[in-house]
Amino acid sequence: MTKVITRYPPSPTGEIHIGNMRTMLFNYLWAKKHDGQVVLRFEDTDRERSDAKYEPIALAAFDTLGITPDLGPFRQSERTDVYRERLQGLIDRDMAYEGEESSDGSGNKVIRFRNPNKEITFQDHVLGDITIDTTDFGDFVIARSINDPIYHFTVVVDDIDMGITHILRGADHITSTPRQILLIEALGGVVPEYAHLPLINGDDKKKLSKRHGAVTVGGFVAQGYLPAAIVNYLAFLGWNPGDEREIFSLEELVSEFSLERIGKSPATFNYDKLDDINRHYLLQLDADFVYQEILAFLPVDTKNQFESDSVKAAKIMELIILERIKKFGDVTAMADAGEFEYFYTRPDLDTDLIQFKDDSLEKAKEMIGLVIEKLEQVDDADWAKDTIKDTLWDWTSEVGRGSVLHPMRTILSGSKQSPDPFTLAYVLGKNETIERLNTINQ
Ligand code: GLU
Repeated sequence: MTKVITRYPPSPTGEIHIGNMRTMLFNYLWAKKHDGQVVLRFEDTDRERSDAKYEPIALAAFDTLGITPDLGPFRQSERTDVYRERLQGLIDRDMAYEGEESSDGSGNKVIRFRNPNKEITFQDHVLGDITIDTTDFGDFVIARSINDPIYHFTVVVDDIDMGITHILRGADHITSTPRQILLIEALGGVVPEYAHLPLINGDDKKKLSKRHGAVTVGGFVAQGYLPAAIVNYLAFLGWNPGDEREIFSLEELVSEFSLERIGKSPATFNYDKLDDINRHYLLQLDADFVYQEILAFLPVDTKNQFESDSVKAAKIMELIILERIKKFGDVTAMADAGEFEYFYTRPDLDTDLIQFKDDSLEKAKEMIGLVIEKLEQVDDADWAKDTIKDTLWDWTSEVGRGSVLHPMRTILSGSKQSPDPFTLAYVLGKNETIERLNTINQ
């Protein structure tokens, strides 16, 4: 069997869109599944819109995801001689000719392909057999001049020269395929196998765009998503393993991937689903690594606070941050919302805030006085969330939970929205907890 060679053909007119990255991942998986290779070529013939600055960004994105190509990068802009020679070849064999650009008499010349006007059938691995009568295309344009070939022509020459055996690309390219097959045949190449992949929409069924959220690998990384989670999620945009499994490493994807399991209908990019998968990966990571990443995502003043008291920071990490975050960037939002502030700055007592329903301030004072008495009995060494809860729980059930826990929580945090009072007391430590509770008596 011939060696499988697939391709990444990005046009460097911007950062690679995550939808195209999905397509590239599929090309990678298919090649690697067959011990094949992936060719990278930058399709930069559109000189106005192409910018070389996007090339290193693309390479970095492949590295980040671990889907580095094997061959290239080639650049179409460096292959103009090759295209000219092939165009001339077609002209010499009367398979292409110089003709009018339009019938309006403007006199502009273009190079047209002499369409054999025949029916072609190709077998698409996703869409099945497709038969097209090419007569409708007429003698289509393949170059604006001998030095200026258009997209269909350059792609075909490259696919032939680079020995591409399989083309996996977005379904938006399907209309190009019959023309490209005609050209491949005219140039004496071997027609590759095709799989046209379903398009990717946002959850509003519209084409995935910036409005929906991040749409580049760099954008996802900047929000603290993990590469393994991005790869895992991308694989599910159009492919599924045929069972309930959702977590796949890149290696597992390589062995499980198949063209038969690619769906026809558009895929939906679901950011919540990506979040859930990311959280799964995040919880597997080494705690030190996670801690360093979280520090890196915190605003600098919060970071300094964390670093000033590592024991407290470890408790916040375990009980507040890791309970909640889906991706590292979530801690930035938590910090911005002031969710760490009260662990470091003692809040002023707000007598309105601490009163539970119709309870009087006197009642709150009485209850908090009893809480202090009970907590003072807890040994320093036993100061843990569960012990604190066990110390208070049965009693709070007798006297009314809200009447105790509401003032306790709001005195400790100074905030309407905060974690439960046992977590707060544990993170703050025994002394600070009792001192804060005592502010009700001052
Ligand atoms: N350069 C094209 C694009 O970025 C890809 C063409 C192809 O896959 O044949 O959309």
